[in-house]
Amino acid sequence: MRFETRCVHVGVQKDSQYRSVMTPIYATSTFIWDDAQTHRGFDYTRSGNPTRRALEESIASLEGGIDCRATGSGVAAIAAVMHLFQPGDHIVSANDIYGGTFRLFYNVFAKRGLRFSFVPLTDPDNLRRALTPETKCVWVETPSNPLMNITDLSAVCEIAHEAGVKVVADNTFLSPYFQRPFEHGVDIVVHSTTKYLNGHSDVVGGCVVTRHPDDAERIDYITNALGVTCSPYDAWLVLRGIKTLGLRMEAHQRSAMALAQMLAEHPKVERVYYPGLPDHPGHELAKRQQTGFGGMLSFDIKGGRAEAEKVLTRTRLFALAESLGGVESLIAYPETMSHASMTPEARREAGISEKTIRISAGIEHPDDLVEDLRQSLEG
Ligand SMILES: *Cc1c(COP(=O)(O)O)cnc(C)c1O
Repeated sequence: MRFETRCVHVGVQKDSQYRSVMTPIYATSTFIWDDAQTHRGFDYTRSGNPTRRALEESIASLEGGIDCRATGSGVAAIAAVMHLFQPGDHIVSANDIYGGTFRLFYNVFAKRGLRFSFVPLTDPDNLRRALTPETKCVWVETPSNPLMNITDLSAVCEIAHEAGVKVVADNTFLSPYFQRPFEHGVDIVVHSTTKYLNGHSDVVGGCVVTRHPDDAERIDYITNALGVTCSPYDAWLVLRGIKTLGLRMEAHQRSAMALAQMLAEHPKVERVYYPGLPDHPGHELAKRQQTGFGGMLSFDIKGGRAEAEKVLTRTRLFALAESLGGVESLIAYPETMSHASMTPEARREAGISEKTIRISAGIEHPDDLVEDLRQSLEG
């Protein structure tokens, strides 16, 4: 089955009793055993639930993995993956990652004995230089947040695997519709399902997708042991969102491209970060590695913070809010919002400035979005 067909057909028709077309929400904490040895596949909802299982099958199929565990947030998924490692283990992470991931690594796991190097992985040679005998994991986000830098997944995997190091990719920004990291050698994929997979800004959730049986087994154990799995109701909402993933991603991309083209020619804009523009440094790589450019873009405004803040508050259609990947367009200020949890030095090193504005292009008509952003720049 092709991708769009799997979006609709994997993880449904789980109800053999009444044959409901859609997977029901199994709102139950526990399941009745037939006898002291036998249950019907589920015993307790933290460990497993039929609705959540349906979602996990769906995402595993879309990413091309063998298994998936759905968690209560994207950050919970990332925390679960970090539990694969032991105190003393070294992790090489991209330096321009999601702010909450940086906070989790830098303020939580670094204090529990894991060691991190944050380096720009857009140049894979930086990975070679950062590797130590204790390195166990490389953490990649591509495109990166918020500057949309593209990292060569195959090149990173080749270097990492030569050294016996696992590669984990956060694929939230493109969703499996536009990028499937397993096809480039990545070992584990994580998502914040809060974003494109659910797509309707009404759930916070995450998942860990695996392709090796030993990782699948350990992630299953860890998510249950930590208690970070998601509720059946949230799983059902994400499963419902996934049915339109392909349609939505195409519409997000259409809007993002129209906005990027307008911004690229606007006199008040200094620089646009969208891999779909031919002058983006990652454009050629993105064309090889991805099947689309996605719905996220950022730009630097001419001037400074005051000019940026004016644009942010003048839009009518773009809501000033964190998050991304929902049907509605959002505008955000990484400096005080999504990346406030990074240290100012880490922000500057990653290239995020007071001029940087991030946009999650929704599925509204692109002309309306272009008009609105233009009036907010010129108002
Ligand atoms: C939002 C996001 C996360 C964190 O996910 P939550 O669902 O908010 O916990 C992780 N990575 C990326 C790229 C994100 O955009």
